[in-house]
Amino acid sequence: MTLREMISECNKIVFFGGAGVSTESGIPDFRSEDGLYRQKYDVSPETMLSSDYFYSHTEDFYRFYRDKMLPLEAQPNAAHKKLAEWEREGKLLAVVTQNIDGLHQKAGSKRVYELHGSVHRNTCQKCGKKFTAEYIARGKGVPHCDCGGLIKPDVVLYGEMLDDGTVNGALRAIKQADMLIVAGTSLTVYPAAGFVDYFHGKYLVLINRDATPLDGRCDLVLHEKVGEVLGGL
Ligand code: NAD
Repeated sequence: MTLREMISECNKIVFFGGAGVSTESGIPDFRSEDGLYRQKYDVSPETMLSSDYFYSHTEDFYRFYRDKMLPLEAQPNAAHKKLAEWEREGKLLAVVTQNIDGLHQKAGSKRVYELHGSVHRNTCQKCGKKFTAEYIARGKGVPHCDCGGLIKPDVVLYGEMLDDGTVNGALRAIKQADMLIVAGTSLTVYPAAGFVDYFHGKYLVLINRDATPLDGRCDLVLHEKVGEVLGGL
């Protein structure tokens, strides 16, 4: 059965994506050949993106974060656009994403569960005032609020818990889905990678450039670029 045939049969599709969904928008992922993990830093990206590092080396954190994690000029690609179109047509229940770039919303998607938060929300740790990603990008050094409090991106850093409401919403959608499309993720970051186990619908499809631990369990595996596959439908 082809992807096109599966999609035409289903109207409760859930899309579960990772960094690979945004590489065609020019944002590097973590674990590909040209991903951030292959670039040389004195400290590993996992350390720099940890909660401990944020509070103990805040200036270094922000240097890396502004340099690598705030691609505000990036635009949605064909995958983001197709998913927004399916939602408008009533075929797609939700997008569950590990990405923090906000590109699904920029493409028009409304029901997006951002498991790892978003660079577009930033909060003063003292008074709770909210700041935009543009505000963070424009500033220099460590961003502070008028009240003197430290501003932190609402991004789930290594060592932090996922938001309960987001997790519950994502799992509810996955449990209701008749089709789950997993794409652009190495399925190595937990607990997010384990969410696939909650799917009991008809078709489990994987669209990922490289092989993943899920390949053997899927009804269809496409080792291709997700933007090209979805854009070509
Ligand atoms: P990952 O880097 O571990 O894996 C990405 C996977 O996507 C790889 O298996 C690769 O083969 C595949 N891939 C790359 N480009 C692709 C394409 N065009 N089409 C299909 N497959 C493609 O990413 P992950 O599993 O999401 O884990 C990384 C973590 O880092 C996530 O938690 C995420 O929050 C974060 N992250 C987010 C962004 C972003 O917001 N855009 C970018 C980098 C990392």
